[in-house]
Amino acid sequence: MSRHNQTRPTSDCSLLEIRGLSLDFGMPRGRVHALRNVSFDVPAGKIVGIVGESGSGKSTLAYAVMGLIADNAEVTAGSIFFERRDLLTLTSQARRSLMGDRLSMIFQDPMTALNPVRTIESQMIDIQHHEERSRSDKRARSIDMLRRVGIPDPESRIRNHPHQFSGGMRQRICIAMALLVKPALLIADEPTTALDATLEVQIIHLLKDLQREIGCSILFVSHHLGVVAELCDHVVVMYAGEVVEQGPVRCIFHNPGHPYTRALLECDPGRIKQKTRNLPTIPGEVPSLLGSKEGCIFRPRCLHAFDRCVKERPPEYRAGACQVARCHLLDRPRMVPA
Ligand code: SF4
Repeated sequence: MSRHNQTRPTSDCSLLEIRGLSLDFGMPRGRVHALRNVSFDVPAGKIVGIVGESGSGKSTLAYAVMGLIADNAEVTAGSIFFERRDLLTLTSQARRSLMGDRLSMIFQDPMTALNPVRTIESQMIDIQHHEERSRSDKRARSIDMLRRVGIPDPESRIRNHPHQFSGGMRQRICIAMALLVKPALLIADEPTTALDATLEVQIIHLLKDLQREIGCSILFVSHHLGVVAELCDHVVVMYAGEVVEQGPVRCIFHNPGHPYTRALLECDPGRIKQKTRNLPTIPGEVPSLLGSKEGCIFRPRCLHAFDRCVKERPPEYRAGACQVARCHLLDRPRMVPA
């Protein structure tokens, strides 16, 4: 599909606007529709969580915003407006100039983001290349940021290499590096998945404090609902490459409108009251994303499916006072299950 440089008036408070985004991967077996017609906003100064099982497309979406998609990926429709410019139409040089300075990312595995053969000091100074400051000033800012993310004795530890830190400390260093440049939008792709529960809580509180202080927005990808409830203002629920429900966290967690969101919440270990050795799971599997699909994508696993769900893809319906969900039950209020 041909693309042209585009700017558009964005709503006053939205930093990132994703509209009708579809992305395919070309595979030997055919085209995998990894994202289908995805639309949502990240308002300025807010934290938006993307949740869903593995294979829901949440990481693909984060990487698409960063322009880090694989060679066999193709955006077939839609736009990604960031600060009123469509990222998909920018030259690679214009896109690169946004990286680090306006757009920053924290990866799931900190070792993929840190260069193993360079000291933390040289990497933290390099990342400030947009700043017109002296090297000693950049070094002092780096030490200060390391201290704020909880690295003990940062004056001497800054001279260490990544392998001399634990996994939790490496992730803290990545957060320090991502926030050192004061980005407008920070994308965090499951940054706490590899950490134990105590470290996870510490990192979440740290992210929230630094986000408030810097005033940036965060797009936070996670399969952990408890973390999203703790950290985020809004939540986008993804299933098999589609957004099935979105809205403010308090609305979705208290009154989920989509059967998939309800099933996810029922399987959240943080919400299970009785002692059990077997954690519940959603019966069935995420469908293959090969080829086109008719009707509702969640139908094979949905306990409430009815005739209309087979043929008709659900549009977005209002669900409750403040969220929207793609489920035909919301068009038939008397059929909504208790
Ligand atoms: Fe279930 Fe039908 Fe709603 Fe899809 S549209 S979630 S199949 S009830």
